[in-house]
Amino acid sequence: MLHLVADAIIVAEPQLSQADRDLGDGDHGIGMSRGMNAAKEALSAGEFSTVDEPLVATGKAMMSSMGGASGVVFGTVFRGGKELKGSEKLDSQGLAKWLRSAADGVMKRGGAKPGDKTMIDALVPAAEKAEEVQTLSLPEAITAVAEAAEAGKEASKAMVATMGRAKTLGERSVGFPDAGALSMTIIFGTMRDYICS
Ligand code: ADP
Ligand code: MG
Repeated sequence: MLHLVADAIIVAEPQLSQADRDLGDGDHGIGMSRGMNAAKEALSAGEFSTVDEPLVATGKAMMSSMGGASGVVFGTVFRGGKELKGSEKLDSQGLAKWLRSAADGVMKRGGAKPGDKTMIDALVPAAEKAEEVQTLSLPEAITAVAEAAEAGKEASKAMVATMGRAKTLGERSVGFPDAGALSMTIIFGTMRDYICS
């Protein structure tokens, strides 16, 4: 699943860079793609026995290869998988635990809160939805989570950026979705496609 997530981000590089060009410095696709290539290497090289291990390996590879704000931010998302220590498979409760840890970790490290027009605006609704649907099957849960992230990304269009490089644009940031929120929707959408296939 993580290899497919990485491939989807790598393919979306131009789209992610364009989204960042609208609001920031235009390097988001390049950074994410570099991080996901490093993650694929780590995933291929590693031997994993529980669910937390490939998630944490992905997060570490992103952090050490990407640099910049989004290396820490997206690295923290995947490192939130440490909450699944010892789990032999991903289930809906595990998904909820992972995303709660991811959202809290990113907010703690980066200081952004919902409404600041960052990837948090896709991740927090996804994490909340995961908690709400944790008694459903994993395909049902991830479908709801991917929808919540997509709705959050769409809602970010109307927000005025107050964090990161886009904040210098102020009102001019309205109308564009946040690039990192777009990355989140690609990540959850690919997880859904894999889990539901
Ligand atoms: P940089 O901002 O260093 O150019 P990128 O362009 O790769 O990094 O990533 C920008 C994205 O990172 C933004 O669209 C936003 O979603 C996310 N981001 C930046 N700062 C923060 C933060 N403090 N908290 C959460 N997300 C952030
Ligand atoms: Mg950028």
